[in-house]
Amino acid sequence: MAEKDVIIGLEVHVQLNKLNSKLFCGCSTKYHDAPPNTHTCPVCLGLPGTLPVLNRRAVEYAIRVALALKCDIQGETLFYRKNYYYPDLPKAFQITQYDFPVGLGGKILIKGEDGEEKTIRITRVHMEEDPGRLVHAGTIDRAKYSMVDYNRCGMSLLEVVTEPDLRSPKEARSFLDKLRNILEYLDVFDGDLEGAMRIDSNISLVGGERAEVKNISSHKGVEKALAYEITRQRSARRRGVAQVQETRHYDELRGITVTIRTKEEAHDYRYFPEPDLVPMRIADWVPRVEAELPELPDAKRERFVSDYAIADDHAKSLTSEIRVANFYEDVAKRATPRLTAVWIADVLKGELNYRDVTIDRFRVDDMVEILDMIEKGTITEKGAVEVIRTILDHLGDPSEVDPAGVVEAKGLARAEDDAVKEAVRAAVKECSQAVADYRSGNEKAINFIVGMVMKKTRGRADPGEANRLVKEELERTGRA
Ligand SMILES: [Zn+2]
Repeated sequence: MAEKDVIIGLEVHVQLNKLNSKLFCGCSTKYHDAPPNTHTCPVCLGLPGTLPVLNRRAVEYAIRVALALKCDIQGETLFYRKNYYYPDLPKAFQITQYDFPVGLGGKILIKGEDGEEKTIRITRVHMEEDPGRLVHAGTIDRAKYSMVDYNRCGMSLLEVVTEPDLRSPKEARSFLDKLRNILEYLDVFDGDLEGAMRIDSNISLVGGERAEVKNISSHKGVEKALAYEITRQRSARRRGVAQVQETRHYDELRGITVTIRTKEEAHDYRYFPEPDLVPMRIADWVPRVEAELPELPDAKRERFVSDYAIADDHAKSLTSEIRVANFYEDVAKRATPRLTAVWIADVLKGELNYRDVTIDRFRVDDMVEILDMIEKGTITEKGAVEVIRTILDHLGDPSEVDPAGVVEAKGLARAEDDAVKEAVRAAVKECSQAVADYRSGNEKAINFIVGMVMKKTRGRADPGEANRLVKEELERTGRA
């Protein structure tokens, strides 16, 4: 529930993991399955005497994201050194941006708690390099030692900072889902890769001190950590415990946040302009990058409604992931668009979520074939759901199944009309008691007869159709 006294702002670190090389060196970004410390070089290890060489494409991607988030692109942008010591940061400074970020003042539309569209303001979008990764032996607050992996060191990051416009953990999640969706549309980001998005959340109650919960990588984790914080802060206030501004860690296993450090004084990072990189005039790049921007989720949703005449709710559901949107359009070209929308948004997506499978594993051809069978009436809707489930259950099997095969193997073909009519005639003859009850005014008695028809056709008749045929037969025989 949105609560008036809850204030949440997010700082989202987005890894531009679709780039081929790191931000300032030629090391490959495809380290996710590699052994630790195999994707490194003197530059990203911060050895003395090395110099950064800026990845031009990373700047383009940053502009692309800032434009999509409706930011003002700054005419000139500059890198700074943020000085601090940490084992995952071998240079003892991080190259980041400070006074002159790529973009300022953007926004994202999300669905607010009241169901209405809500604008979340973006403060800034800036570029920086990713530090390495510490692997703790056990939980962060109890580990006896930690190991460091520099494969991630020097990856291109974007930091997206929001204004404190979010009012509930659910809104925070909804913002993150929308941001991920936009980034995937822009083809700069793969959210499935480990550590692709890491989120720091600032949360406070009105008039209270702020807690920052650092470094959560799942959207669900952020939602849970914020819910925990609201409860914790409220309870502290009720008990009259003084709150201090602090940094906390979310322990996913225990579902709680624990304090890491209190901010009695602000950190002094001694920011100063990075002397090894010149300022960049990016204003001139904007028209070209803008011309290459793909269609974004909100625009695609509007187009789906107008081009395919589908419901807005369906359009929203279908555009909530670029993969789903593409799948929909591929199928809708070869099937009835409205029927396609209903079956993908209301049925297929649910079955995929339930199994935690992405839509690209489902074949477009199979979906077209299933919709064709529904439209021709060769299977019932119930049968179609069964076909979809069976195909999903056999994904990755050596003997993957196809729709026609499932219909054949499971006997899902809708009974021929003649067979249904035959079953209706027989059922009316056999159920003389139910027929008598029906004729004396007990309309519910018809259900018994329809049940008999379903039994005789082994469930392959359409129940609505069977009901209609039984009524017809009762009328016909009643007249005789
Ligand atoms: Zn390197």
